[in-house]
Amino acid sequence: MLYPGDETVSGKLLRLRQEYFFSNASLKDIIRTFKKEHGENLTQMGDYTAVQLNDTHPALSVPELVRILTEEEGLYFDEALLTARDVFGYTNHTIMQEALEKWDMKLLRAVCPETAKIITLINRRLKQKLRDMGEARGDMHIIQGTQVHMANLSAYGSGHINGVAKIHTEILKERVLKDWYELYPEKFLNVTNGITPRRWMALANPKLSGLITELLGSDLWKTDLTSLEGLKKYADDDAVLERFMEIKAGNKKSLCEYVKKRSGIKINPDTVFDVQIKRLHEYKRQLLNILTVLEIYFELKEGSIERFNPTTVIFAGKAAPSYFRAKGVIKLINEVAELIDRDSDMKGILKVVFLPDYNVSYAEKIVAAADVSQQISTAGTEASGTGNMKLALNGAVTFGTMDGANIEIVEKAGSENNYIFGAAAEEIEEIYESYDPCELMEKDPKINRCMKALIDGTLDDGGTGMFRELYDSLTIGASWHRPDHYFVLHDFESCLETRLRLNGDTFYKKVFARKCWLNMCSCGDFSSDRAVAEYAEKV
Ligand SMILES: *Cc1c(COP(=O)(O)O)cnc(C)c1O
Repeated sequence: MLYPGDETVSGKLLRLRQEYFFSNASLKDIIRTFKKEHGENLTQMGDYTAVQLNDTHPALSVPELVRILTEEEGLYFDEALLTARDVFGYTNHTIMQEALEKWDMKLLRAVCPETAKIITLINRRLKQKLRDMGEARGDMHIIQGTQVHMANLSAYGSGHINGVAKIHTEILKERVLKDWYELYPEKFLNVTNGITPRRWMALANPKLSGLITELLGSDLWKTDLTSLEGLKKYADDDAVLERFMEIKAGNKKSLCEYVKKRSGIKINPDTVFDVQIKRLHEYKRQLLNILTVLEIYFELKEGSIERFNPTTVIFAGKAAPSYFRAKGVIKLINEVAELIDRDSDMKGILKVVFLPDYNVSYAEKIVAAADVSQQISTAGTEASGTGNMKLALNGAVTFGTMDGANIEIVEKAGSENNYIFGAAAEEIEEIYESYDPCELMEKDPKINRCMKALIDGTLDDGGTGMFRELYDSLTIGASWHRPDHYFVLHDFESCLETRLRLNGDTFYKKVFARKCWLNMCSCGDFSSDRAVAEYAEKV
């Protein structure tokens, strides 16, 4: 029921009510517990209570706590605001402008009029503070025109602000929250995300868990993932690698049976499993993946690829309810899958599947069976990613860009054991103004024919205009963004080249398994236990 489409007023209203409901209910529960354990002096809340704002979705908690403390608990306004700052920490999870929540004051007044009044008071204090410091900085105001900026509300109301991977925290300091960093540098810190080894190894991959426990002589890795380091010494042990590969092969068979039962799709388990499983978004670039698959198909047809290890390219993920273009990408993936399926030359060589109804249970089965983890977001756009960690932990190599936590994964697991391509964040920044995707398309025959296929009838969008819209988004842009905003065509050639190099490497089964093994052994730092401990200590 959460996250309704918010393109309509009723959708927006429902979303805001959800945010207010959970904020209020959580705070009431926290205060009830506090009083039971620590008595009535709520100015001491910060000594015993920490509330982490997990993105801006619960940001209404800041004015709501101030409201409860002043109107219901008798504190002075300034006392209440200081208490809030002791209690709250703010974690930013994305730099996507459209995801930085802004609510209309009118809507807020309709849902929670008293809390809306407190927001006005908090904004007045912030503006006074900025005036006292001799700073104009209108971008920091919580209320701008009729809009309430939830990131500013969160930043002002919190004692600590963090990003979720090293590169992301740096981008927050340099760009997204630059003003806040200049005024409150001591508030900022990084806590790189993590995943729980109980779900993403012990539950998702029982056979590999068994091998790890056997080799380490205990299952303490389940609560101290760094002990996986101790398995690096088996990287050249043929017997261990053999068992490792057998386990992966078994997991692939299980996934194939599950997919067959659930969706009726038949996959050959004896192929390379190349997976991109994540929400659909332009910045995650499923479009780059499918366009390079299309080019590989054309090259296999014309015989210009000498040796190709049979591959199944697996996609899974949902699009937001009103994200038309993302649904166009799903349609495109399904149409390329059909084009290849219809071609008997491709049988046993190349297959594309889009698995519907992706969720966490599905993810558990896919990560245990993957050889290649697609993490190909435009450098500088993916805050951290956690799918990248799940797949690396289960022994897939990362095929990706220098973005989010990919950077830290590759730093730990070794660039020689992974496949990095594409422009770095600094390069993207440098070429940003002068980038011309049409020029690229005209000069590059590979890009040219893949783009043509979108509009010349090779691929059929059933008369919806979806593929023309994708074509236009890469070539002429739309009113609110520039052509090829996420540099798909810019990274096309290096993506394709690296992809074919990776495919060539998969022929050397032992060498490739060694890379997979070392990735698994290097994931110790990406446990959520480490992340939670860092929040507890630093925040
Ligand atoms: C882990 C996970 C995600 C996040 O994946 P990213 O690749 O980091 O975007 C999304 N959906 C599900 C179901 C997941 O398990």
